[in-house]
Amino acid sequence: RSTALTALQEELEGIPCTTEPQQLSKLSIDWHTFSPVLSEKLAGKRADIVYFPTSEAEVIRIIQACVRHRIPLTPRGAGTGNYGQAVPLEGGVVLDITRMQSILWTKGGIMRVQPGVKLMAMEKEARKTGWEVRMAPSTFRTATVGGFVSGGFGGIGSITYGVLRERGNILGLQVVTMEAEPQILELRGEAVHQVSHAWGVNGIITEMEMPLGMAYPWAECIVVFDDFMQSARFCQRLGESDGIVKRMISLHAWPIPSYFVALKPYLPEGSHAALLLIAENSLEPLADLVKEWGGQITYTKPAAVCVGGTTSSTGKGITLMEYGYNHTTLHARTADPSLTYIDCLFPADPDLKAMEYLYRTLAEEMMIHIEYLRLNGKVTALGGQLVRYTSEARLREIMQIHRDQGVHVHDCHDFTLDSLQKKDASNRNQQLELKKRTDPLGLLNPGKLKAWMEWQAQQTGSPSM
Ligand code: FAD
Repeated sequence: RSTALTALQEELEGIPCTTEPQQLSKLSIDWHTFSPVLSEKLAGKRADIVYFPTSEAEVIRIIQACVRHRIPLTPRGAGTGNYGQAVPLEGGVVLDITRMQSILWTKGGIMRVQPGVKLMAMEKEARKTGWEVRMAPSTFRTATVGGFVSGGFGGIGSITYGVLRERGNILGLQVVTMEAEPQILELRGEAVHQVSHAWGVNGIITEMEMPLGMAYPWAECIVVFDDFMQSARFCQRLGESDGIVKRMISLHAWPIPSYFVALKPYLPEGSHAALLLIAENSLEPLADLVKEWGGQITYTKPAAVCVGGTTSSTGKGITLMEYGYNHTTLHARTADPSLTYIDCLFPADPDLKAMEYLYRTLAEEMMIHIEYLRLNGKVTALGGQLVRYTSEARLREIMQIHRDQGVHVHDCHDFTLDSLQKKDASNRNQQLELKKRTDPLGLLNPGKLKAWMEWQAQQTGSPSM
């Protein structure tokens, strides 16, 4: 490998790179550290060199050199993924795309960008013409749009627009293939999903076309309840109230609110808290709904006082958006690093039986955290439960208890795409089929797609790992 790396470096003279050991370690990890299981499995995995291309032409040169010398290549955005998506399991090159951050054009509610643009930069640009990003992860300040589309699923805004996977939420992706003579493909329509959420295993995204949403002035509210199941029913009803315009409904069973130190004055001891982003013109009907369900609004931050004038996603300061989604895990782990999390989808059920069962049965070792989002047109509860970690075996038992209640669990303690996407096998097959054409040597983000390893084992007649 070292001779090949020397030759690669000589050929790529002029493209910014680093081999400084501390930088290599920093740019080889992501936030899989939320999982004690992944932390152990991925420890010590490190790139040999990190390149920072500034253009598609440089990406192509890097790909050609890697193919020539059979060196693995793992793309990386801001490295905020939770599953080790951007960890280079076999070393080689990490392709850091954060310097490809041009906004190419915006027109008619569509924005074409390079993949290294941060979600917050997109939001700022979109707001100049009355638009906003449709959805963003709670890491919107640092996460890149390329990393979001390749490694994320949805977030703030998904209660209205659904997740990235929904038809129409990604309009086009320009992708460079991992071949001696790289092709530039423009995928549109449903074909984008062969590459979206594929963790960069079948092509490098170099441009993307994203649809925008109409910009609203978003107010932020905290609503508290004495009874958890009542708070969950309120959130479900709020999600289904189509006349109330919202961007986030994030629900936290006590004691999760006790981890939100900066919000302490608004989170009474023992209360369950819903953190909301609501369009300002929907605050009055929201207050009526809260009253109907017996909740109490303890905090309202009008959009006008949010930094940036219209929404705090465009500037600094405390925003509830950085308490929902996996920021919940982040705040909780800051207080208690022994906590970890599980990702799951609750079944559509007006009686919320599974949620109630898990809330009551696992109260000693698990705290319920729900994000409400729209999936296939239905308001759905996405669980990001916090678990007091004792062992991998017990963690897996807890996941099984969820499954036994009809809850779909995404295994966020496994670093393969296959384990996370169990529910969507046909999409994974499409991703595999594309990889056979775009990365015939299997150099892109190796080790992340089990289906590829199984297929290769079939070809060579050797057992798959
Ligand atoms: P990275 O982590 O750097 O990369 C993600 C994947 O994309 C990797 O597999 C990488 O190889 C691949 N990739 C990157 N760029 C390219 C490219 N140009 N071409 C091909 N492949 C590429 N996720 C959500 O979906 N919603 C949330 O609300 C959310 N909240 C989070 C909160 C916290 C506190 C943390 C730590 C994580 C959260 N995440 C969430 C996960 C993550 O932050 C997001 O998915 C984020 O969008 C990833 O962007 P990134 O730039 O950091 O990508």
